[in-house]
Amino acid sequence: MHELTLAEIARGLADKSFSSEELTGALLARVKQLDPQINSFISVTEELALGQARAADARRAAGENGALLGAPIAHKDLFCTLGVRTSCGSKMLDNFKAPYDATVVAKLAEAGMVTLGKTNMDEFAMGSANESSHYGAVKNPWSLEHVPGGSSGGSAAAVAARLLPATTGTDTGGSIRQPAALTNLTGLKPTYGRVSRWGMIAYASSLDQGGPLARTAEDCALLLQGMAGFDAKDSTSIDEPVPDYSASLNDSLQGLRIGLPKEYFGAGLDPRIAELVQASVKELEKLGAVVKEISLPNMQHAIPAYYVIAPAEASSNLSRFDGVRFGYRCDAPKDLTDLYKRSRGEGFGAEVQRRIMVGTYALSAGYYDAYYVKAQQIRRLIKNDFMAAFEGVDLILGPTTPNPAWKLGAKSSDPVAAYLEDVYTITANLAGLPGLSMPAGFVDGLPVGVQLLAPYFQEGRLLNVAHRYQQVTDWHTRAPNGF
Ligand code: GLN
Repeated sequence: MHELTLAEIARGLADKSFSSEELTGALLARVKQLDPQINSFISVTEELALGQARAADARRAAGENGALLGAPIAHKDLFCTLGVRTSCGSKMLDNFKAPYDATVVAKLAEAGMVTLGKTNMDEFAMGSANESSHYGAVKNPWSLEHVPGGSSGGSAAAVAARLLPATTGTDTGGSIRQPAALTNLTGLKPTYGRVSRWGMIAYASSLDQGGPLARTAEDCALLLQGMAGFDAKDSTSIDEPVPDYSASLNDSLQGLRIGLPKEYFGAGLDPRIAELVQASVKELEKLGAVVKEISLPNMQHAIPAYYVIAPAEASSNLSRFDGVRFGYRCDAPKDLTDLYKRSRGEGFGAEVQRRIMVGTYALSAGYYDAYYVKAQQIRRLIKNDFMAAFEGVDLILGPTTPNPAWKLGAKSSDPVAAYLEDVYTITANLAGLPGLSMPAGFVDGLPVGVQLLAPYFQEGRLLNVAHRYQQVTDWHTRAPNGF
């Protein structure tokens, strides 16, 4: 049963080939058996899952028929989940049980999804390797010596290992697309404002966006359908109608204009990945797409701008973790200052502390204009580049990452080396655009992803192109050995 996609599960549940309770039991057993190898779950919510599965079976018996009713899901451990530990991968929140459900969690539960647990992640979603979690590193099912990508590394590894068909993730600078690429999945970062951030623990609020990870575009469409929509509780949520994403999956690609930014194919890109990207372009051309070269001239400034803006917002968001109201508190503080210092010093890991320091510095009087304001100006230039490009093309295509997965520990002592891996994904967050990564081949046995970017609210186009591509290729169907 673990081989089934979300779409196949929907059919199996509808034609009563199996019940949600049977499916849930089988997947929970698989998690128990296999997850110790990859460490993709922080919490397994067995009781909650079995209760939700029985309730879904009862709803179906009473005549309900939703595509997600009774299907399994696991949430990145920064989506607040009522009564369940929501740790954000941090010692700071190790003892935090959320008193409410995030909107995404509530919406998917209402649709009848069964929550198997909470997935491992880089601490406070900061990272590209899932090595900074308080709960230990996640391993890539394709090679246990390699990282799965991050920060939604647990969400990606769990699906890649066929522990379940789909998970939620969040993407501030690539954290859905990059781990999807490194583990052979399809991952979608929606337009900023498409999916509610309410109850999603903030990293960098102007960049964060939740989205689906699954094996196929078809499954991402099903899951996004359940996640997307206006939420009055999130002031940045946008009140746009949600289209039927599954309905446009098979639309023709005849005449689709694809832009290849010339800046994407310079030094720094593994030439073997460049070849696979070109091969994916050929497939799309066969399906009727027309390709042309475009330019995103300010792309080179994206990493420095992002690594000012994201830490700046993080330093502000994380100031609430002070050892007073919730979260970790140090033992026997001498006075209030000692309480703050030691609670934060002991509760946050090294990468989080580094970013709080960088962000606080960038926002401090005297440096604010030189760093933060300058970074915001670059952000606008990057957005303008995209707006100009989308006047002439319908879609932008390139690699998701410059390299395949690296070995555990290989970049731990050099944070900048890890930051450089985000070069292709970060611009979509700075501009607020939707982006998707899809499987496009292998280098040395490790998966490679191709990234598609579209204009605002064109998630349907991304899913359509990825789905058509997945009908003529089989990369996405390949499973790692042992899983
Ligand atoms: N790797 C990026 C960072 O560390 C992106 C993380 C994310 O998207 N959450 O900031």
